[in-house]
Amino acid sequence: MPKNRRGVAALLPVTLVLAGCTAANGEEADDGLPVVLTTFTVLADMTENVAGEHVRVASITKVGAEIHGYEPTPRDVAQASEADLIIDNGLGLEAWFAQFVESSDAPHVVASEGVELIDISADAYAGRPNPHAWMSPANAAVYVDNIAAALTDLSPDHAEDFAANADAYKAELAAIEAELVDGLAAVPPAQRALVTCEGAFSYLARDAGLEERYIWPVNAEQQATPQQIADAIEFVEDNDVPAVFCESTVSDRAMMQVVEATGATFGGVLYVDSLSDADGPVPTYLDLIRHDVATILDGLTAGAP
Ligand SMILES: [Zn+2]
Repeated sequence: MPKNRRGVAALLPVTLVLAGCTAANGEEADDGLPVVLTTFTVLADMTENVAGEHVRVASITKVGAEIHGYEPTPRDVAQASEADLIIDNGLGLEAWFAQFVESSDAPHVVASEGVELIDISADAYAGRPNPHAWMSPANAAVYVDNIAAALTDLSPDHAEDFAANADAYKAELAAIEAELVDGLAAVPPAQRALVTCEGAFSYLARDAGLEERYIWPVNAEQQATPQQIADAIEFVEDNDVPAVFCESTVSDRAMMQVVEATGATFGGVLYVDSLSDADGPVPTYLDLIRHDVATILDGLTAGAP
């Protein structure tokens, strides 16, 4: 990797000149800023927050995209070959990524590096790490540190700005985590459960002290089986769980069967794999995690005395 990085640095002046001349596909291609390419919108937003105005950030997958089964286009490959740094989530989230990244000479950083992993316990995925590590404020702080370090390698002149931006962002993450933990204190311990469609909330559940249940483990080949739905119904009934949830990028049909069978309320839509448009409910990652925390707390405390 260091060898690779130096190679890129040595080529940089030439690359910039070329980029300036050949802005063929390029929106705003001649501002001379380094280009950081991320695999999905959550990483792009975190990176923009740490980078400030010092780099240009792009996301391969767009708002609303289902990232697990994405297939890169020729345009994505062209974008990657022009990037100065590529940031992915890792942990098998971007099943399509390994081959893709080989098409680029840019250094590559895994945002989830150093997170304390949770394995998926079910089905064909058993034993593999759960890829949704950004779905906990504590883990997101690890991502932010990794991104700040990568940007500092890329653009050392702005190290102080990156560190200050990262610190401010991590303070917001800590406040959101405290709000979640404090809010759950009002929920009876037996009902501190998070029932969702995809198993995307293992990290949030762990950090908040919630028991996690889901209908299917990973969105890639979702189609709820009758057994999976029956298991969820049994869990909700046994624990008197007041509310269940589903993610924005999948159908909530299976979860509505759980609602009908149990009398739990449908607590609402949670966001995981993508941000929304700028005028939607979660245009940034901080909006996303705040929205999910508020939705979960509202659902679980609705019936509380
Ligand atoms: Zn997912």
